[in-house]
Amino acid sequence: MKIMKDIKPRPITHAALSITHRCNLRCKYCYSVPKADRDMDIPTAYKTIDFLNGSEGDRITITFFGGEPLLLMDLMENIIDYAWSKYPSKFAFRASTNGVLINQCFLELCRKYNMSFVLSLDGNSEMQNANRITPTGKGSFALVEKNIDAILGFNPYTIVVSVITPETATLVYDSVTWLFDRGFKYVVQTLDHNADWNKNDLVTLAKQYKQLSRFYFNALEEGKKIYYSPFDERIKTRTIKPLQCGDLCDLANTQIAVAPSGRLYPCVQFIGNDTSEHQKFSIGDVFTGFNQEKRLNYVKENYGPKKPCDDCELNGRCMNGCGCVNWRATGKLNLVPVVLCEHERMLMPIVDKLANKLWKKNNELFKRKFYSPFFALSSYIEDCAIKSKGR
Ligand code: SF4
Ligand code: SF4
Repeated sequence: MKIMKDIKPRPITHAALSITHRCNLRCKYCYSVPKADRDMDIPTAYKTIDFLNGSEGDRITITFFGGEPLLLMDLMENIIDYAWSKYPSKFAFRASTNGVLINQCFLELCRKYNMSFVLSLDGNSEMQNANRITPTGKGSFALVEKNIDAILGFNPYTIVVSVITPETATLVYDSVTWLFDRGFKYVVQTLDHNADWNKNDLVTLAKQYKQLSRFYFNALEEGKKIYYSPFDERIKTRTIKPLQCGDLCDLANTQIAVAPSGRLYPCVQFIGNDTSEHQKFSIGDVFTGFNQEKRLNYVKENYGPKKPCDDCELNGRCMNGCGCVNWRATGKLNLVPVVLCEHERMLMPIVDKLANKLWKKNNELFKRKFYSPFFALSSYIEDCAIKSKGR
């Protein structure tokens, strides 16, 4: 990966607004375990918008985060109204939700403000219920499943984010195929890098990925446009371009996070419960501004070389560049967790074999998807045309 030498903070383009520490779930791998009850108050929310407006740059995307932001739909609407009335073209909004509270009222809010959302859903009932549980310990699958038709009706391109733990490694194939069969087109999947992974878990996962590579191959042969991040992101780094500094994660720089208290953090993973143990990671607050020295130190460390990657041929293709993932698992932005490294070494050959097979087959969709710079736009226009024909 190319390392930048002259590093200066750049204008903010993405801000995650944690509007509450509260949540209606208790996912076993949650990094902001909802212990505290605090919500963002309105003066802090307005001050956050004023502060962000002061950042150079034309546009900032704000993601409502938590906890679970849909517990505070009125506050979300209040913030958007304030931002749009005071700074008409500066802000776009989206949300990150566990999906339990999605209802017509929320979807109306999304339509009104052109707001999209990312849905955290691990997969089929077995996979979802293994880790994403309610405060009473029950699985949350049924609570989300009942909303899926409405979600896909609102936006068929809704991104699903799924997390794999050692306990759910055997369920990956069934879960991912379930998500695609259910109608989702975009699945982002990652490991819980803090879990206790062993070699057998990764062997199990390799088998699941191999099965999924056949599913993905067949889907592309049938002309189905699916996106599965473990495959798509690694094919892109081979066919389009290797990863550059900041591509995967630009914490404390173009991307920041704001806690309900108004404290600024490098990324949502650093907020935790915003107690004294977390406040040492803060890079300022919306009332007094950035602590630029702390901010720059994070950026420099995040842009520095990753360990142990110097001589590795996968550097630039491997997902070693997310400072938050590294920091959470190893305590350092630049030190890659062992499981991430082993996972990359296991997954890359499977992905390369899949890409070679599609290339040799002269697969039309594969070539458009991974070699045409206009694929996203042309594909969207094509899908709209198919939809309007079907009406
Ligand atoms: S839904 Fe999100 S915030 Fe809530 S417990 Fe699960 S991971 Fe944590
Ligand atoms: S495979 Fe391991 S050593 Fe190689 S770039 Fe990735 S994390 Fe670094």
